[in-house]
Amino acid sequence: QAKASGRRQAQYFNKDLSAGAKARFLLEGQLQAAIEQDRLTVVYQPIMAGDGRQVVGLEALVRWQHDSLGFMSPAEFLPLAYEAGLMAELDQRVLERVCRDMEQERLAGRALPPVAVNLSADSIMNPALADRIWTLLQRYRVDGGQLELEVIEDVIKGDSSTLRATLSELVGMGIKLSIDDFGTGYSSLLRLKSLPFSRLKIDRSFTRELPNDADDCAITLSILGLARGLGLQVIAEGVEQREQEAWLQQQGCDYLQGFRYARPMALDELRNWLDTRPA
Ligand code: C2E
Ligand code: MG
Ligand code: MG
Ligand code: MG
Repeated sequence: QAKASGRRQAQYFNKDLSAGAKARFLLEGQLQAAIEQDRLTVVYQPIMAGDGRQVVGLEALVRWQHDSLGFMSPAEFLPLAYEAGLMAELDQRVLERVCRDMEQERLAGRALPPVAVNLSADSIMNPALADRIWTLLQRYRVDGGQLELEVIEDVIKGDSSTLRATLSELVGMGIKLSIDDFGTGYSSLLRLKSLPFSRLKIDRSFTRELPNDADDCAITLSILGLARGLGLQVIAEGVEQREQEAWLQQQGCDYLQGFRYARPMALDELRNWLDTRPA
């Protein structure tokens, strides 16, 4: 009896597993097609000066409008892209889309503020990255100073001459480099010092409970102190409430980003948002 039900359970388990695996496989194929056919879209979230009023930049964030599942967020499909080895291709598409948008807006006489693009470890470790970006800047006549790149700190964990060469080429093109989600991964402070990054982004997990959580206050203050000592600027992510903003301003945080100012927006919506802001 016990054996029979055990077998039944095992069969159920197998059936579930294969159904799940099939769905994943299907989704992966659809994602690959969406990337190859350039059907992923990009939304832009404003980054504000420390005063919370002036727009100093934008962050480009990828989106996928799935035919039957609807709007999918990066948390839902990026793990799939990672697993399928599609991240470098995805990042390349996003970079190209952003450069194209910048050219289009510039030609229409309404140049965008500098745009930060997120890069996966696969992209930043690719020895061809700097050349590819150079090609895009030429093709769309984008100044390197208009582009910024964000990578998570785990990327700088290992010492790699390829990484060093890529970063210094990028900086040579005038591109600013930021470390994203700072404090959530593993960073070597020594490498942080020796690599040409200019900004740290404090992850939302540390800013969410400001100023009420004493630990988060301590962590944020220490990141601000470290950044100041190393001559880096700090962007606080996930600013939603007036109290968070006030505390960060009091501590002299350089830049603020979050729903308090604006959600990520499609280009049309962004244009409208930028146009209708009080001067
Ligand atoms: P991230 O780079 O740290 O981006 C910030 C995320 O926080 C975005 O989520 C943004 O929509 C969200 N956010 C901004 N302000 C607030 C706020 O006030 N409250 C809350 N609750 N959330 C806020 P999103 O767009 O879902 O992106 C998630 C992550 O996916 C990004 O985190 C980034 O790591 C990755 N990602 C997004 N686009 C790309 C891309 O084109 N390439 C790569 N490699 N990764 C990307
Ligand atoms: Mg980012
Ligand atoms: Mg981040
Ligand atoms: Mg984050």
